[in-house]
Amino acid sequence: MTRFAEIARDVYVLRYPVLDVNVTLVVGDGAALLVDTLSTDAQAAELVEAVRRVTAAPLTVVNSHHHFDHCFGNAVVAAPETAIWAHEEAARLLREEAARLQRHWYEKYAPTSPDLADGLAAVTVRPPDRTVHLEATVAVGDRTVELRHFGRGHTAGDLVARVPDADVVIAGDLVEESGPPMFGDGYPLEWPETLTGVLGLTTPSTVVVPGHGAPVGVEFVRGQHSDLTALEWLIRDGNFDGARIEDVAAKSPFDRDTALVAVRRGYAELAGRD
Ligand SMILES: [Zn+2]
Repeated sequence: MTRFAEIARDVYVLRYPVLDVNVTLVVGDGAALLVDTLSTDAQAAELVEAVRRVTAAPLTVVNSHHHFDHCFGNAVVAAPETAIWAHEEAARLLREEAARLQRHWYEKYAPTSPDLADGLAAVTVRPPDRTVHLEATVAVGDRTVELRHFGRGHTAGDLVARVPDADVVIAGDLVEESGPPMFGDGYPLEWPETLTGVLGLTTPSTVVVPGHGAPVGVEFVRGQHSDLTALEWLIRDGNFDGARIEDVAAKSPFDRDTALVAVRRGYAELAGRD
């Protein structure tokens, strides 16, 4: 059974083995806030058990973005009266395009992870009902959690949560520890600037919770920012020079498959498509 581990005072992270995805729990006086809800009904039921071992307080839910591994557990985790927060674009996608997304992810995972694919297909997607344009503050009992959007990056609707009294920043997939950043719905030309915004929330001792993998410090995030910035300029220069996507990807700080997706997305954006 997967459990939460305390990473700062009354801030807990559960690192779920499937996709190595993180869920963060912030516990206040008589209230708690959960960032992300895993992928399937079964995973979310397991998550609820893990939450209840830490706190019996009523929850507020935050989705860091619209990808299934961060929000498809909403319907199981959230009671009917539970508020679910997300950036307005993530909320729109889950409200208007859930069926298409569910089909897309089912088809993607069916060949390699049929159990996960079946679980995704069986979910009733519950869209967020509280949206953030640029920022919002949520009361969690006696503490506050800030929700911020710094622009497009991993998706068009990434939300970052900060727990100021614990010096914790929950970055969603804008920061990745256990694998490279994922560009399938990403904006490689804007991601560095967005991550600059995230870095602006940090102090030298901030703990940053990535979307996947172990919590990291600010130096790690700076390193990822440098790699993303290098990639951005490879794409801009390559596009200006008319370089082939494969040749630009080969120079990137990330692995070839990751970089190919990024360069394709970047070239499309420079051509005015996205
Ligand atoms: Zn994601």
